[in-house]
Amino acid sequence: MIKLENIHKYYDSQHVLKGINLEVSKGEIVSILGPSGSGKSTLLRCINFLEQPTSGIVEIGGKRVDVESASKADVFALRTSTGMVFQQYNLFKNLTVLDNVMIGLTSVKQLKKDEAKKKSLDILERVGLTNRLNHYPAQLSGGQQQRVGIARALALNPEVLLFDEPTSSLDPELVDEVLATIRSVAATGKTMFIVTHELQFAREISDRVIFMEDGVIVEEGTPEQLFTQPKAERTKQFLSKAS
Ligand code: ATP
Ligand code: MG
Repeated sequence: MIKLENIHKYYDSQHVLKGINLEVSKGEIVSILGPSGSGKSTLLRCINFLEQPTSGIVEIGGKRVDVESASKADVFALRTSTGMVFQQYNLFKNLTVLDNVMIGLTSVKQLKKDEAKKKSLDILERVGLTNRLNHYPAQLSGGQQQRVGIARALALNPEVLLFDEPTSSLDPELVDEVLATIRSVAATGKTMFIVTHELQFAREISDRVIFMEDGVIVEEGTPEQLFTQPKAERTKQFLSKAS
């Protein structure tokens, strides 16, 4: 389970997250929608401490951390229980596909090389990249690079996967292959948070959809509720503009 309690984040004097409360069960798929600047990326980054939240409590898989008194070990535990997939892929450009996936296993998880390799090959097969193992990121399409990004996040077998607009940098014809990969990961029962502008995809894949604006959760519900009977005026406006 993942629990966020009253998470606040300030960048200097700018109050970007204003008391986020969220409880997500194991295996749940949660999409986060909202206008630019509403705090979606900041929320994901506060879950895994890429950004330090200003106050609140983050709990992942039974590990409960008050962010104001988080130790280095707490931060390490939260980081390793999350896997992040970025809009810009964030791959190591000087490493091959296989090494991009292996490196987390040999460094963070301290697996032996042959064990890390075996695991990485399995995961790369799942995302359909067995024929690109020795390519470098620059030799791949955007969709292939993003599938490496997903494989890398999956390799560490995190409690939760965090996707921040995973298809926003892709040419339209490459979006579907990445969405298909995300769907196949979802089918394995992994807990996932997905920030996306792909409304149809969010509607189809999510157990729950959250609409954020100005650092607060305005509304949340099942895809059915949120897309067909939004309660808040702001949600209605957002959905009508976006569709
Ligand atoms: P988008 O849909 O454009 O990605 P978002 O909902 O992900 O938007 P955030 O990136 O979380 O929004 O940004 C929320 C607010 O926090 C914005 O006003 C942004 O300028 C500010 N912000 C984000 N990151 C930083 C940072 N590292 N330093 C200072 N301000 C930041
Ligand atoms: Mg963002």
